[in-house]
Amino acid sequence: MAVRERIEEFVAWANDEATAQGLPGEVIPPDAYGGFGLARFRRTLAWHIARRPGGLVALAIQYGHLRTALDRDESGRYGSRSRRGIHDLVDVETALATADAAADLHERFQDGEGISGPAARRALLEASTGPLFRGALVKADFARKHVLARRHLARDGGVLYDNPHALLLCLYKRDRALCEQDGQHDAPSLDRCVAGCGNTVRTDQHAALLRERASHLERKAARLPGPIGDRLRRNAGKLRSWADEHDRTRFTRQETTA
Ligand code: SF4
Repeated sequence: MAVRERIEEFVAWANDEATAQGLPGEVIPPDAYGGFGLARFRRTLAWHIARRPGGLVALAIQYGHLRTALDRDESGRYGSRSRRGIHDLVDVETALATADAAADLHERFQDGEGISGPAARRALLEASTGPLFRGALVKADFARKHVLARRHLARDGGVLYDNPHALLLCLYKRDRALCEQDGQHDAPSLDRCVAGCGNTVRTDQHAALLRERASHLERKAARLPGPIGDRLRRNAGKLRSWADEHDRTRFTRQETTA
């Protein structure tokens, strides 16, 4: 059976279950663009990998669990181009995600939010004056989009990655990256982020999220026995110390223009 049909069958099954369980909010709505084909399935996966690096989808692809689906073409035949296809798509989605991160940082700073970190000033400069990723504007030609994405991501020290795991932004500069000791990689290992790296940027929002995560760990620790609870409390303390450091060192647009 073609992957497209399998996806559509899955949507029908999920909707029947949602209705049977009395959960109308969980129903998958009809698709305004027609059936959910394999091309869009791959793009959706690429979107998740780019925005949740190290997440379940990324790992499933890395370890081959999704290979069967991705090796097939639209009609269900096995092809060789589609595996390369997912990697090219991930490049484009990653470039889009980094452009979004830069635009978001610029907007937050303009709106008065404070930022901190050793790469904060460089990141602001990049976000306000760096070249834009034009891939989103190139409509039909995916190959061209991919070339632009590779070029955009190759700017060492000029690409801003959101790192939701570590609650920070990473302005990746190879020779400063603590997650890549060999200095060979052209992208950060966001799931192996190391505290104290010179590529770090934090906003007030990150500080608030660090405290939220710390409170969550402390609540969990209160229900767990000795050493496990102690470990969670230590982690919570670390998160709070990073948030406090942000508060001590943050600067705002108002301060820089005063
Ligand atoms: S250690 Fe963290 S901040 Fe530094 S380059 Fe790696 S992911 Fe980015």
